[in-house]
Amino acid sequence: MPRCAGYKRDGSPCERIVSASQRLCFAHDPSTAEQRSRNASKAARSKPSRELAAVKERLRGLAEDVLAARVDQDAAGVASRIFGVYLRAVEQERKVRELEDLLPRIEALEKRMRQEGGTSFGVRR
Ligand SMILES: [Zn+2]
Repeated sequence: MPRCAGYKRDGSPCERIVSASQRLCFAHDPSTAEQRSRNASKAARSKPSRELAAVKERLRGLAEDVLAARVDQDAAGVASRIFGVYLRAVEQERKVRELEDLLPRIEALEKRMRQEGGTSFGVRR
């Protein structure tokens, strides 16, 4: 199978498999650069990643305050546990969104498989 002709950041060759009509993979093809940066900025703008960035920033500040003895250690401990719970909630929210995004796509695929009688996947009923 053909491999991508691009190079990774460290200079070693990209090893992604590409289709026979392509020379470069999605990550290296200049014609998909715009779509890649759209995807990346969409991910960065999403609510969970903004919330994660904000919490990370606050935890770092809290750690620095503890080290500099600017904040009571017990209070900092409680605060970091609360942030931990909050992070788990954000993660749950992200998983739910991911499922909500994937479920209709899986259902559409299943529907198509049923309509095609499963023959394209080699399934006999
Ligand atoms: Zn590549």
